[in-house]
Amino acid sequence: MTLHWTRLAQDGNARRGVLHTAHGEVETPVFMPVGTAGTVKAMTADSVRATGARMVLGNTYHLMLRPGAERVGRLGGLHTMMDWHGPILTDSGGYQVMSLNELRQMDEGGVTFRSHLDGSKHRLTPERSIEIQRLLDADVTMCLDECTPFPATEEQAATSMRLSMRWAKRCRDAFVPREGYGLFGIVQGSTYPELRAESVAALSGIGFEGYAVGGLAVGEGQEMMFGVLDCTLPLMPTHAPRYLMGVGTPSDIVGAVRRGIDMFDCVIPTRSGRTGRAYTSRGMMNLRNAKHAEDKRPIDPDCACPACARHSRAYLHHLIKAEEMLGPMLLTWHNLQYYQDLTRGLRDAISAGRLDAHAAALEAAWAAGDAPPEDAAAAELAEDRETLR
Ligand SMILES: [Zn+2]
Repeated sequence: MTLHWTRLAQDGNARRGVLHTAHGEVETPVFMPVGTAGTVKAMTADSVRATGARMVLGNTYHLMLRPGAERVGRLGGLHTMMDWHGPILTDSGGYQVMSLNELRQMDEGGVTFRSHLDGSKHRLTPERSIEIQRLLDADVTMCLDECTPFPATEEQAATSMRLSMRWAKRCRDAFVPREGYGLFGIVQGSTYPELRAESVAALSGIGFEGYAVGGLAVGEGQEMMFGVLDCTLPLMPTHAPRYLMGVGTPSDIVGAVRRGIDMFDCVIPTRSGRTGRAYTSRGMMNLRNAKHAEDKRPIDPDCACPACARHSRAYLHHLIKAEEMLGPMLLTWHNLQYYQDLTRGLRDAISAGRLDAHAAALEAAWAAGDAPPEDAAAAELAEDRETLR
């Protein structure tokens, strides 16, 4: 049987379930740490597992350029290469080709671009993206699509989405089914409900093991993102997992789970950890801030990670100021732990049928805690969003 998902519980639109893959089962809603180039930055595979993470993401674009998909294949695939024996989802490479390459050339067949590493010329087609992801041995393969820029006119969004739908069909045809492996289609259509509906219908007609919502968290803001989910999710197949790509903050995740999303990935916890920011049960905290210099309290008294169990805010502040490697390592661990604790709490609340109350309590604690004043928090959040992936 190919990769599939079973539902365990439902609370409102929120779902708790299990994703069955070639490399084990994963409970959903799930947050997947981003292992861009074959590593979750600043973490060993064991430390990623210790946070409770059971599935990670790898980036096709980075791995195809270095060390190269064929080489990863010869080294036994991504699981063996990075010592991660749980499931792996790989993106298609399309997003980075479009965001990291100003000289790319798109045509009906695919996209031609130059490597940001050495200027060498490459071509990514739907068929080649599927082949690369097979060489990487991804449990979940993503269709190659064009990530529509934001903002886009309705005409631009329609042209872009229809190209992605033609590519989705080519990806489906190129994908060789294997036990426990699956291919996900990606819903596009920018902020236009009719285009999102057309995209869902096209993908459902082709048939995939899971469905992703793409083209969000690209600068449209949380309210508009939730608006797109509100009009798109009710149209999507209910038997398959739903994945919101590249999202998000803890608040984004809670809102999306309540709307029926099952899977997430985002660089926010890892990237913000490397720049001194900690997401906690009491809001976001910037450890660079001088107010932490002699604060002996842990970052988050409710967290069991090594940064919180063994160290003070003062020490972490010192490590970040001194640019010691351990600072980003500990804060990355903490943030990933926080995201895993957050999603576990959401799963439990769905099973107990008390997700609304749980979400309200989370939001109240974030607002009441040590978070910076709203303006500063918004500015830092904007900075985090700007550097997504
Ligand atoms: Zn912690």
